[in-house]
Parts: sequence; C-alpha cells; structure tokens
Amino acid sequence: MIQGDTIVAISSVIAPAARILVRSSGGESHAALRTLTGCHEVSPRSARALRLEFDGLSFPAWVYVFAAPASYTGEDLVEYHIPGNVWLARRLVDELVRLGARPAEPGEFTARAYFHGRMDLAEAEGVAATIAASNEAQLRAARQLMAGELARRLRPVMDGLAETLALVEAGIDFSEEDVTFLSAEEVAARIEVAETALADLAAHSDRLDRLAHEPHFVLAGRPNAGKSTLLNALAGTQRAVVSPHAGTTRDVLSAQVRLRRGMVRVSDAAGLTETPDAADTIAAQMHARALWAAEQADFLVLVVDASSAEPPPTLPRAADLVVYTKLDLLPRAGGASDGASDRKAQRSLATAPGRIASAVAVSAVTGDNLEALRSRLDELAFGADSPGAMLSLNARHLTAIAEARAAMRRAREHTEAEILALELRQALDALGQVLGHVTPEDLLGAIFARFCIGK
Ligand code: GDP
Repeated sequence: MIQGDTIVAISSVIAPAARILVRSSGGESHAALRTLTGCHEVSPRSARALRLEFDGLSFPAWVYVFAAPASYTGEDLVEYHIPGNVWLARRLVDELVRLGARPAEPGEFTARAYFHGRMDLAEAEGVAATIAASNEAQLRAARQLMAGELARRLRPVMDGLAETLALVEAGIDFSEEDVTFLSAEEVAARIEVAETALADLAAHSDRLDRLAHEPHFVLAGRPNAGKSTLLNALAGTQRAVVSPHAGTTRDVLSAQVRLRRGMVRVSDAAGLTETPDAADTIAAQMHARALWAAEQADFLVLVVDASSAEPPPTLPRAADLVVYTKLDLLPRAGGASDGASDRKAQRSLATAPGRIASAVAVSAVTGDNLEALRSRLDELAFGADSPGAMLSLNARHLTAIAEARAAMRRAREHTEAEILALELRQALDALGQVLGHVTPEDLLGAIFARFCIGK
C-alpha cells in the first residue's frame, strides 16, 4: 500500500439510498474539490452545500472538508454526500480519478489512519470487526476494540516491562561499577506482576471469532414430544421451509431463528433418543447423524411432552435447557397458565439425568411462554446482558499475548542479565505487535485486506 497519493472510493453502502458518501484522502483531495466546485476557498472542518459540476453534469452535494492531521486518515480529506444514485457516485469517483486520485484498496482509509498514528492496530481491527458484525455481541466487542480498550489494558503492562528492561540493561552497562539497579528478586516480582495481568486479561476475554460463529441449538426428545412444532414456532415458518439437510428423509432438520441479539440455528435431531434396530440401516444412519448433531451442538435442549407420563430419555450429554411442551394440554392450576407445568417441571427435573441449567414450559399451539423461551435461548447464546465487562480478542491478539507470557516465564528462569533482557525484549515485541508498534509488513497487509473498499 503506497502512502501519500490521493485515494478515492464510495464509502457508504453501494445501493440506492437517500445519500451516498464518496470519500477522497490525500494531498490532492482539496485541489480536486476546488476544481469540481469552482470554489476556491475551502476551509477545513467545515460542511457546505455546494454544486458539483463536471462532464456536463451538475448536482448538489454536502461537502465536508478536513485538513491533515485532523481527519479520519490523518491526511487532507473530503467527503462528498451526494444524492443516492449509484451511477452518479461512480461518475464522481471516475472524475476524481481523472483529476489525479486512484481507487482505494480495501481498508486503505483505515490503514492510512493507522500509519498516521490516528489509531492503533487493535482499534483498526475494531473498525473491520464493526463492519463485519452480524449480532449485538460482536458489535459490542468490536466497539470496545475500536475504542482502544485493549491498548488501555495492555499499556500499563508494557510500561512496567519496559521499565524493568531499562533497569536490567542499565545493570549490564554499569556492571563494572558495582551498582545494583534491581535485585534478582525485584526483577522476578515485576515480571510476575506483568504475567498475572496478562493471564487475567486472557482469562477474562472472549474469542471474537467465537462471537462470529452462529450459535447452534439441538432439540432432542422422544418422538412426538413436539420438537418440530417448536422449531416451526421459533422460526416462524412451516415445515415446508424448514430446510432438510442432505441425506435420509427423516434427517436432522434445521432452521435459522432470529433472537433479540442475533441469529441462531436450531435443529430438530429426530431419532436421537430412539435405539435403532440393527437391521434397519436407515434408522441406524439417522441415529448416528442425530448423535453427531447433538455432539456438535453448542447447546443441547431436552424437549419433554409435559402432558405425557413417560420419563425423559437419556441424552448423550447433559442438556443445557429443558423445554416442556404442550402446556395447553395441562389442567390449569389457579388460573396461572404455567403453575402446573412449573411444578411438573420441578418434579421431572429431580429425576432428569445430569446437571440441568433450567426449564421453561411452553405451548407452541397457543404461543404461551414462547417469549420466555426466546429470552432464555438468547441468554444462553449471547451471554447475560452485562454491557461489556469482557473484552473480546481475536486469535492474533491471543497468540501474541501467549508469546509474551512464554518469554516472561523464560525470563524468570534466568539470572544472567543478558538473557533476561533478551526475553523481556521478546515479551515487549510480542505485546507491541498487538497494537502494531512492531509489525511485519505482511501482517499489516493481511489485516487491512479484510476490509472492504471505502473503509
Ligand atoms: P416431534 O416428533 O417431537 O417432532 O413432535 P411434533 O412436533 O411432530 O408433535 C407431535 C404432536 O404433538 C403433533 O400432533 C403436534 O401437533 C402436537 N403438538 C406439538 N406441540 C404442541 C403443543 O404445544 N400443544 C398441543 N396441544 N399439541 C402440540
């Protein structure tokens, strides 16, 4: 990625909209604006309604002007908010290219922001993650990164390590002169403080890529427990649109379900609890598939017919939630729709296998308690509603933190100052990579290539 030249791209969604945003950044961006508008005085940090005129076209635009270094990229930058016509936006981009800009590469605006010190690398990754977010948990995690939360937590650790390294190196420089800057115990104690802080950070962080994954629920229960009716009720579709996976006809059926904080996948693993007849190969295959689905599931839901006296079946692993169905078939106690079923739920829970988190009783026919079930699924899939105590890290951050911790552990095993200094420097370099202080070129390329053009 070459810096310094002027780049241009459509920076909003490329679709008919009320307004489309075309952004240009670099040394020539202000001059191009002057040419397009005939307006010779463009004051930075301003927004003006101007007419753009080129190639026989003339149309109004709100123009926002920024001057280096006070812009998103840290360079001179112009934003053209034009009427929402994609063809017009493309013509404007072409005209800006004719005036000396070049089309921006994916992520290049954010890359420039990073190179000009407007954000650290973790914040830039937060921008990419925000764009890619498909559920609320991902968005919250991405915003935290973008807001520099990781840097805020890493900096004190890095400052402490840098100071320790400086004192150890001073000890090497003055080794002839019988001055001790830090005793071996003091060095070990300082490293331990830093290591504990990193261990704490890793332990209290979630995986960003895990948030990107669509949580998968598998419904298991006896035949006729009401699994497929429940699946349809949750998905808001009829069986016809519930997509069957390839394979046998009575296979695992699944559907996407929209919950408050994002989409999840719910599968009906029919046949999971039936013991297949050894002679019936289709039933055996179905059973194997259902078992496989249950093992792969993030959450296993035991579905029990509340109106039936049959005991719940044994599952291949403990269920995360029990759903009692056919609440409408139970006699109502004291007018409360779910009192009887709750008692029944409690009774059955006492005999249910394994440790079970909780139970909800519903009726897919009347819709009773379906909202409570949705909330419960949302909580399981996306965690309790506590805004952002956890920091979400990507694999690159976690690897760097693990490398730093390994170097620190090695440092603690050595008393020779030179080796100690070497390991401390490695730990600092690894942490520096998280924020992009010391980052190989190819790594930068890989990070910014994941962006889309215009960002
Ligand atoms: P599956 O074999 O576990 O998938 O069970 P189904 O969803 O096919 O349901 C078995 C039977 O129970 C069907 O006749 C459904 O109409 C009925 N059923 C399912 N859920 C309810 C419910 O909430 N209330 C009532 N009254 N019947 C239900």
